[in-house]
Amino acid sequence: MNILFLGAPGCGKGTQSKILIKKYGIPQISTGDLLREEIKAGSSLGKELQEIMSSGKFVSDELVLSLVSKKITQDECKSGFILDGYPRNISQAKSLDALFTEKQIKLEFVFLIDVPFETLIERCTGRLLCTTCDYIGNMDRGEKVGDKCEEGELYQREDDKEETVKNRLNVYQEQTAPIIDFYQKKGILHKMIGGNDPAELSNKIANVIKD
Ligand code: AMP
Repeated sequence: MNILFLGAPGCGKGTQSKILIKKYGIPQISTGDLLREEIKAGSSLGKELQEIMSSGKFVSDELVLSLVSKKITQDECKSGFILDGYPRNISQAKSLDALFTEKQIKLEFVFLIDVPFETLIERCTGRLLCTTCDYIGNMDRGEKVGDKCEEGELYQREDDKEETVKNRLNVYQEQTAPIIDFYQKKGILHKMIGGNDPAELSNKIANVIKD
């Protein structure tokens, strides 16, 4: 089962992917996570990436394609995968198509999670991640930077600061939104309305997959 999540920053792609990993036992390929791992490793590439990502711009198409193609061809992806955060522009969507054709991979579902931009700004600027586990916290729930999670400590992503979030949403509108049409024409796009209840959305997604 090969699934792709589309949607603006903060729409819940990561959260839904993580629910599906547990439900179906298939891995998530998140280009954002892979890039952040590179930054954590402290390589010279990581330092370059940090500068680009903290401004909300995209990293190069070649780099993300090489990360994705390396992952997709690994054994753990044989029974399926969940792509999150890739592709993000038409050129990446075409490269991914070519990669799928070459590797004889069929993309079955593209879920677009639709959330109004005002909500996304609130969500991203309030979002807190854990240094160690998958926990996603929120300042609206009274959590704050430095709070202890089960395994690590909560922090705010550099690119979740308000100006950068607005910039990322503009980039999404200009470069990523045109992909919606690309997948609609293929007949595999499912538009889902994202609310505040991840479990409810995940049930709706599971129903589409079952049908
Ligand atoms: P995300 O965690 O998906 O919100 O991604 C965080 C940042 O990583 C983005 O704002 C970009 O700078 C970079 N990034 C992630 N995926 C891609 C991609 N497919 N193409 C270019 N840059 C990306």
